[in-house]
Amino acid sequence: MMKIDAHNHPDFAGYDAERHVQNMDKLGIAKTWLLSCEAPEDEYNPRSRNCLVAPGEYGPTLFFRCLEYKRYAPDRFILGYAPDPRDPAAIVKMRKAINTYSVQVCGEVKLRITYDNPDAVDLFRFCGEEGVPVTLHFDYPYRRPGVEFPRRHYWYGGGIDNFENLLRQCPETNFLGHAPGFWAHISNDNLWETVSCPKGPVIPGGRIERMLEKYSNLYIDCSADSGLNALTRDPEYTKKLFLTYPDRFLYGRDHFKNTLAEFIDTLDLPEDFLEKFYHGNAERLLPPVKEPAFG
Ligand SMILES: [Zn+2]
Repeated sequence: MMKIDAHNHPDFAGYDAERHVQNMDKLGIAKTWLLSCEAPEDEYNPRSRNCLVAPGEYGPTLFFRCLEYKRYAPDRFILGYAPDPRDPAAIVKMRKAINTYSVQVCGEVKLRITYDNPDAVDLFRFCGEEGVPVTLHFDYPYRRPGVEFPRRHYWYGGGIDNFENLLRQCPETNFLGHAPGFWAHISNDNLWETVSCPKGPVIPGGRIERMLEKYSNLYIDCSADSGLNALTRDPEYTKKLFLTYPDRFLYGRDHFKNTLAEFIDTLDLPEDFLEKFYHGNAERLLPPVKEPAFG
């Protein structure tokens, strides 16, 4: 089965380009969507970021690092980039990224803004016109005991209501939901108000299920521990949801483990679903390459 990892980053968890490609080879991953994750200095959690921003310096994941990887292995990486919608040049930058570097994904967006604010809507509508899907990271503002500085908590994107409003306002743009603040809504309960990654059986009829039904531009990025946590809460429910919406879920990692694929193996899913999940949906979501970057 050909696999596309629809969510990963450069310089992450001690991996450089060479180790990243070796890891993909070992796990049978043909291509990776390599996403930037640019944010103002005071918005990312210093404990969760370890990427190069300049020789010897660390910070959020800058697009130029994705480009370095693309140069190293042009056939193995799909470029993602997301400017900050608060930047007056955001759309100019996105257009340049698409036209000059063949960027095919807008992501990862991980910012302390509500994603349905007018500047964000403007940028995401532009992405829709270009056929570029948008990957969004959501977190609610949970306090971490003892953490006071630079922030008392790390919220991103707003909540599920902001996401639904965005889906409604940008019907031509395909969005990928991701991260704890999104996945908590797999279940029809209020655990999201107090717990980052709730566990336990899923109560059917949650917001994710209802939004999948209502918005054909909602896709789901199954990457990260938050994705695996949500999908493993209730395997029978997961299987039903997968088979009801086979065109909407994408395989992805956001790390270098094989944990999601190992779980998927236990579900005994039909071959045509797996073809879509592992690569078909990811391929279908991408716009054609404008100019091949680096051959
Ligand atoms: Zn994320």
